[in-house]
Amino acid sequence: MEKKAFVTKEMIEEIVKKYPTPFHIYDEKGIRENAKALKEAFSWNKGYKEFFAVKATPNPFLIDILRDYGCGCDCSSKTELMLSEAMGVEGKDIMFSSNDTPAEEFEYAAKLGATINLDDITHIDFLEKAIGYIPETISCRYNPGGYFSIANSIMDNPGDAKYGFTTEQLFEGFKILKAKGAKNFGIHAFLASNTVTNDYYPTLARQLFEVAVKLHEETGADIKFINLSGGIGIPYKPEQTPNDIRVIGDNVRKVFEEVLVPAGMGDVAIYTELGRFMMAPYGHLVTKVLHEKHTHKEYIGVDACAANLMRPAMYGAYHHITVLGKENAPCDHVYDVTGSLCENNDKFAVDRALPEIAIGDYIAIHDTGAHGFAMGYNYNGRLWSSELLLKEDGSVQLIRRAQEPKDYFATFDCFPIYEKLK
Ligand SMILES: *Cc1c(COP(=O)(O)O)cnc(C)c1O
Repeated sequence: MEKKAFVTKEMIEEIVKKYPTPFHIYDEKGIRENAKALKEAFSWNKGYKEFFAVKATPNPFLIDILRDYGCGCDCSSKTELMLSEAMGVEGKDIMFSSNDTPAEEFEYAAKLGATINLDDITHIDFLEKAIGYIPETISCRYNPGGYFSIANSIMDNPGDAKYGFTTEQLFEGFKILKAKGAKNFGIHAFLASNTVTNDYYPTLARQLFEVAVKLHEETGADIKFINLSGGIGIPYKPEQTPNDIRVIGDNVRKVFEEVLVPAGMGDVAIYTELGRFMMAPYGHLVTKVLHEKHTHKEYIGVDACAANLMRPAMYGAYHHITVLGKENAPCDHVYDVTGSLCENNDKFAVDRALPEIAIGDYIAIHDTGAHGFAMGYNYNGRLWSSELLLKEDGSVQLIRRAQEPKDYFATFDCFPIYEKLK
């Protein structure tokens, strides 16, 4: 599928008069249409809820848009819990899916009334010590090990993942939790990441539903929800076919009716914790070309760097690039598009066929709406960019200002040198 930017050169030339590059810009219309489609796809399930994975895009303005479609928050740390609390998200709408969790964070989550999703059987005792009781509503993260395959093709390798209870531990854990007073149980699993196939959720759902029926039979636990977590991906590459959330929702329904309904478990709520699927396509990192360099390769140097978008440097991830104003020009040049970090992996694209680029051109790097800004760091003293929202009416709102040196130096505020850095 052709990948089109949701901004044009003309729009960016207007925007930069007020907000200089680089910045991440998000498309409100796209976020809303997608959130609505997800809600409709699972509307067959009475208790359905999406808990947006806050870590993907921890911006309250964007999360507030999702809340219009009934989304809650999935948090993995205390600061994410604090953000959700500050936004007025109620405890019942917060999932706390963390791992290697400090006691203090369990306390905070319990105080908010969030649903705690335990990552390990030893965390039952750890939680009880931390907060003094076992909550009535509790969830356990499941990791069956081995490989996760769909129709003989390996999607991911849960056996090598640090998360979750083994099957035996899950049964044992439910018994212990029940004996300690837990009443409402949930099962959670995240077994493959960024899947671009309509079959991931239905395949995962069958596995979890079958375990749920056995758990209910063997332990008597009242299973209230099954959390399919994240993992629905997006087509980063033009040749990939996007997932169809309606097909996914409908196929989960079929498995639900096949496995859970006959077991008398037709009132189980389906939860999701999507991050990437909710936001990634609706963000661009917009950056300006500063330099071209002709040495052993052709380089284009831009004013963003891996500190603003880490995925290409960290995973060699593909992010599509549109040279704004040159959408229809032939891609007859081959470039490495680089940032300024003193790291040779600071490249947004390697050997990428693009139209001829000139200094001053604006480039939109696609699919940065999730796990983009959020993974930012400050190496080389590079600062975080601003975040902008392209609203449905075409106006642009600043939803996070760019970091300034004073922010970078703020943690020196207890030292005399701070006075010179402010
Ligand atoms: C990261 C994460 C998610 C979201 O994953 P996506 O791939 O962005 O959908 C959901 N749940 C948990 C526990 C996570 O760690």
